Amino acid sequence: MVDVKSQYLKIKEEVDRGIQEVLDTTAFINGPQVKKFQKEFETYLGVKHVIPCANGTDALQIAMMAVGLKPGDEVIVPAFTYVATAEVIALLGLVPVMVDVDADTFNVNIKGIQAAITSKTKAIVPVHLYGQAADMESIMKIAEEHQLWVIEDNAQAIGADYTFSDGRTAKTGTIGHIGCTSFYPSKNLGCYGDGGAIMTNDDELGTLLHKIANHGQVVRYYHDVVGCNSRLDSIQAVVLSAKLPHLDAYRDARVKVADFYDAAFKDVKALETPYRASYTTHVFHQYTLKVKDGSRDALKAYLDEQKIPNMIYYPVPLYKQEAFKASSNGLDYLENTETLCKEVISLPIHTEMSEEQLAYICEKVKAFFG
Ligand SMILES: *Cc1c(COP(=O)(O)O)cnc(C)c1O
Repeated sequence: MVDVKSQYLKIKEEVDRGIQEVLDTTAFINGPQVKKFQKEFETYLGVKHVIPCANGTDALQIAMMAVGLKPGDEVIVPAFTYVATAEVIALLGLVPVMVDVDADTFNVNIKGIQAAITSKTKAIVPVHLYGQAADMESIMKIAEEHQLWVIEDNAQAIGADYTFSDGRTAKTGTIGHIGCTSFYPSKNLGCYGDGGAIMTNDDELGTLLHKIANHGQVVRYYHDVVGCNSRLDSIQAVVLSAKLPHLDAYRDARVKVADFYDAAFKDVKALETPYRASYTTHVFHQYTLKVKDGSRDALKAYLDEQKIPNMIYYPVPLYKQEAFKASSNGLDYLENTETLCKEVISLPIHTEMSEEQLAYICEKVKAFFG
C-alpha cells in the first residue's frame, strides 16, 4: 500500500546525519530536535501550540483529558472510523455516541450529530477520513450553540486546507479547540517508529496539554494534575523535520495518483471514484473506491490473487465491534455506515508510485469488471 523505503532513500543523507547526531549526543529523549520540529510544525500549520507526543491514540486521549471530561459524559464520534477514536473515549469512562457518516465524503453526518446531542453531550470528535476534512464549519457552529468541545482526529488529513464560507482558510487540525494527529510510518507525514502531536490555538489548553503529556508536571517532581507519559523521541523528530519541507510535494504526488485512478475508472460503471468536497483539499491518505454492484469481496479476492495490495478500511461499524457492543447503547444499524463497510476498497497510494505501476493496477481492476 505504501513505499516508505524509496521515499527514505531520497532524504537518506539528512535523516542519517540527524540520527547519527542523536546517537553521538545521546539526547534520545527531549533532545533539541524535538523542540525544533515542534516549532517548524507550528509554522507549517499556522497554529500557536504543537505538543509532540508518542502516537496518535495518545494525542486523542490527552486531548480528552485536557478538556476535563468526566465519566459518563457523552462524546459524539462517527461510526465509520479507525478504532482509536472511540477507544480512548471508552478507556476514560466516557460514552462514545456513534453517528452515521455521509455516503459521499465518508465523514460524520451533520444531522446525525444534531440528533445525537443530549444534556450529557460534552464533545464532538470529527475524523477527517482518508484525507478529506469533515464539514468543520457546521460542526463548529453546532458546538458553539451547545457549548461542546471539538477535538479533530486529523491522523489521516495532515496538510489539508479547509476553506470557510467567508473565504478564510485553515489547516485541518487547527480548526477545533484541539487537533490530534499521528506520525505512524504509513501516514502522510510518517516517522520511523511511533509518533503523534496535539495542536491548539488556546494558550491555556496548550500549557495543560504539555503538562498532561509529561506526568502532569511543569517543574520536575511537582505534579499538578494526573497526566501520562507520552513523548516523541529525538530520532523521530529528526525524521519528521527532514520530511516536513516535502509534505506539500508528497500531497501533490498523492493527488496525481488519485487523478490517474479517477481517469482510469471513470467509465467503469460498478465503481464510484472518491468524491472531492469543494470546501477542502483532499490529501488522499487513502484512495477509496465504492464498488456498487455487490462484487467488492470478489474484487478483493481477485486483487489478492493478482498480488495487488488492497485494503478494506473499515469492514465493521464501530457499534458492531465486540469491544464496543456494551457502550453502543443498543445501536445496531446506521444506513450509510453499513453500506460503506460492504462497498469500500482502498488501492495503493503513496508518493513514489510510477505510471507503470498505476497502469498495471488499473488494467487489472478493469479486467475484473470486463
Ligand atoms: C492512525 C490513526 C489513529 C491512531 O494513530 P496511532 O499513531 O496509530 O496511535 C487515530 N485515528 C485515525 C483516524 C487514524 O487513522
